[in-house]
Amino acid sequence: MALVTGLEVNKVRKTLMVKLSASYILITLICVTLIIFFSNLFLDQQFKNYVIKQQDKENKSIVEDVNHQYSAIEAWNTEAINKIGLKAIDEGLFITIKDTTDSMIWDASTYNYDKCEVVKKKLTENMISRYPNWKAMYTKDQYDIVYDSKKVGSIEIGYFGPFYYTDNEIVYIKSLNRIILGVGLISLIIALGIGLIMARGLSKPILSVIAAAKLIEGGNYNKKVTPKTDIKELNELIMTVNNLGSTLNEQEMLRRRLTRDVSHELRTPLTTLHSHMEAMIDGLWEPTTERLISCEEEVKRIKRLVGDLENLTKYESENLVLNKTNFNISEVVKNLVLNFENEFINKGIKLIFNEKDTIIYADKDKISQVIINLLSNALKYTLDGDEIAISIDEDKENNIISVKDTGIGIAEKDLPHIFQRFYRADESRNRKTGGAGIGLAIAKAIVDAHGGTITAESKLGEGSKFIVKILKK
Ligand code: ADP
Repeated sequence: MALVTGLEVNKVRKTLMVKLSASYILITLICVTLIIFFSNLFLDQQFKNYVIKQQDKENKSIVEDVNHQYSAIEAWNTEAINKIGLKAIDEGLFITIKDTTDSMIWDASTYNYDKCEVVKKKLTENMISRYPNWKAMYTKDQYDIVYDSKKVGSIEIGYFGPFYYTDNEIVYIKSLNRIILGVGLISLIIALGIGLIMARGLSKPILSVIAAAKLIEGGNYNKKVTPKTDIKELNELIMTVNNLGSTLNEQEMLRRRLTRDVSHELRTPLTTLHSHMEAMIDGLWEPTTERLISCEEEVKRIKRLVGDLENLTKYESENLVLNKTNFNISEVVKNLVLNFENEFINKGIKLIFNEKDTIIYADKDKISQVIINLLSNALKYTLDGDEIAISIDEDKENNIISVKDTGIGIAEKDLPHIFQRFYRADESRNRKTGGAGIGLAIAKAIVDAHGGTITAESKLGEGSKFIVKILKK
């Protein structure tokens, strides 16, 4: 069965495509709207100023032109004034010229009323097309006509004030907006295209993540999905999901092994106990003190195992709380050794300890537990008359506690596994010694929680050395 069906592929792709394209289009729309708004705002201000300045220039040029049309001999050159006046009407300026006696020389609406009305109507339309609420305000500017430093008349220039747009100006504004809209439209098409490309690029790795998650969901922890993207974050996501699979796999294996080991550990003493009691109940065996003691031994073994398991769960729990303090590790070792004094004497084992005052920063009780486990192992696996050496040293970064014995040693094949729970180098011998293979797992859990390391060096028949390194503060 395919992990990710064609239908799902299409669904992911479609959703991404719609979402990405929609967001790109939205961004483009916002940008185009902002550009149109601000460019028109800017255009209005700048263009208004420009048009008003041009208006003033135009008025002055007309006044100067009219000035030149007066001479002492011929007075007003009406032909030339006609031309000036008509040109002015085309530009939306309506002039009236009077002499000093206030009698009319030339007037735009008298000269061509219809043309004046057509131009005024056109200008009004232009302005309303841009400013719908525009109200025509007719403005008149008055200038003197001077000849030979004497006023010979006056000219009045009327126009829609304070400014108005001619056809050319309106065409300019409209084409500018059309260009912006065109650019906006092209940007929208590009945004849609990029949205599609991005959706294609993203859908593949996302589908990989879905595939990886589905594998895990189906309990298939070992199959990995290889990233097919150059997007760093998505690669990390795929790797994380893959790692999640590995972690879940390890957890699952641990759980199975633990259940298997615990039931195995419990079965042997329970079977012995059951058969002994059955024999006594059936009257086959006399319930002698010896037999009852043997039964009690099995009960003790079960009790010890349960206690070990309890400890292991406590120390291996994720949130093992460390109560770190500064203490003299030499003092602690000295006190612990005292507790084992009887056993050393009974087995005739020589203890060597380089008492060296060293302050370490760690959880005193838990580090004591590590030393107890190492010391009791050394005693367990060391034959009568051998020796055990405990030493406290340090290097640049760590305080080092080592427990060395000249005991039976550990085979090379077992050495890498001794810190695993329930691992026993020699099953039959260890069952006799009573160990369930938990002591070193507990020691490792404690040292790990401190951020330290615990290692073992050993040679079968020659002895073992356990080295604990705890980081200096
Ligand atoms: P156990 O309770 O069985 O001693 P541990 O976890 O403490 O469990 O040790 C795991 C195994 O490592 C032991 O069963 C033993 O085979 C081996 N081992 C541990 N310490 C020593 C040692 N000092 N000398 C020889 N073997 C050892």
